[in-house]
Amino acid sequence: MNCDIAIIGGGPVGTALALALRDSGLNIVVLEARKAEDAQSDPRALALSYGSRLLLQRLRVWQSIAHISAIQTIHISQQGSFGRTLLRAAELKVAALGYVLPYPALHAALLQAVQASPATSLNGASVTQLHSDAGGACISYLLEGREQQLQARLAVVADGGKLLEASHPPEVHDYGQSALIAHLTCSRPQAHTAFERFTAQGPVALLPYRDGYELVWTMSPAAAQEALHWSDAVFLAQLHVHFGDRVGEFLTLGPRSCFPLRLKRAPDTTLAHTVLLGNAAQTMHPVAGQGFNMGLRDAWELAQIILNGTPATLGSAAMLAAYRQQRRIDRNAGIRFTDGLVRLFSNDLPLLNVARGASLSALDCLPFAKQFVTRRMMFGANG
Ligand SMILES: Cc1cc2nc3c(=O)[nH]c(=O)nc-3n(C[C@H](O)[C@H](O)[C@H](O)COP(=O)(O)OP(=O)(O)OC[C@H]3O[C@@H](n4cnc5c(N)ncnc54)[C@H](O)[C@@H]3O)c2cc1C
Repeated sequence: MNCDIAIIGGGPVGTALALALRDSGLNIVVLEARKAEDAQSDPRALALSYGSRLLLQRLRVWQSIAHISAIQTIHISQQGSFGRTLLRAAELKVAALGYVLPYPALHAALLQAVQASPATSLNGASVTQLHSDAGGACISYLLEGREQQLQARLAVVADGGKLLEASHPPEVHDYGQSALIAHLTCSRPQAHTAFERFTAQGPVALLPYRDGYELVWTMSPAAAQEALHWSDAVFLAQLHVHFGDRVGEFLTLGPRSCFPLRLKRAPDTTLAHTVLLGNAAQTMHPVAGQGFNMGLRDAWELAQIILNGTPATLGSAAMLAAYRQQRRIDRNAGIRFTDGLVRLFSNDLPLLNVARGASLSALDCLPFAKQFVTRRMMFGANG
């Protein structure tokens, strides 16, 4: 089989690209290893930036996403110091600082729109090999136990980062942290307020969602394994000790899941007739909720380059160079910002502790600095 663009991985980033190209007239095939219903079990909640909302509106999927909670205030603090910063949507003159929604709700809306688009969507198609050279890309995949092949003028790798890991190893920094995530309720929820609290073991985030919060609690992998097996009562009590009393007592806890946290950065975001997007290009720590937001901008900007080119330039060296150039600043800034936050805050060096507390207080008093940080989080470095 031949096509113009083969998208390997129909996760949120791969499907967003297919949608951004739905009116292009190009022949697009999306190969997704999971069956449609399996993506519904992903336990992650995502914080989306206001910029991502605007892109999802342009993709005509925002209105069909079920259950979105807006973030109007972000409270940033550090364990063991008085400094804190409040970012408020009203003060910064934006409708919301961001939105919280479950990965499956976002993915289902994107998937449904792709299925209604001219793209061919193959679920249960697991890509086993990608070979590309100056002539194009050749993809081997397994579908219903049968090996099949697809030739494409452009292969887009949006598989989260596994397919090319061995042949094109990413730079990896292991943070020595895992994230425990779960939905919880508490006695004094603060409507539309997200909390980011830095501790020496790693950041803890509470993202407002429906009747409570989505928790992202980072700690060492060994501690996370233990915490996975605590009773709910012990877990909630330990969290209260660690997080403090800002939202009162923690009352109920949903199922827990654990994710190891590493920075993975592909050395090249393009290969011959191939582009790497989203987590396949950069997997970041969830501390500032940047991963999908960055991946969506990857997809959107790649689509604009394809739409502004001619069919003859699809997959050409010039097109790939234009994409790399377009994404360079935003990608590097996003990785540096996220990585810098984790390294700066995940230790308990006394002098740094004082300096960080003072910086959080200073940021709180500097409207221009606040606006800069907030705009970066909402729109990225190109915004
Ligand atoms: C705990 C945690 C919290 C997070 N919180 C946030 C947040 O608040 N905000 C935010 O923006 N980001 C957040 N992220 C990051 C976000 O989840 C990722 O950036 C996002 O899911 C990347 O999307 P993707 O489509 O690139 O990859 P994925 O979501 O990994 O999707 C990849 C897809 O490719 C498919 N696939 C894999 N291999 C193959 C193959 N061989 N053949 C075919 N298909 C294949 C998979 O089945 C999957 O559907 C968080 C991550 C974690 C771990």
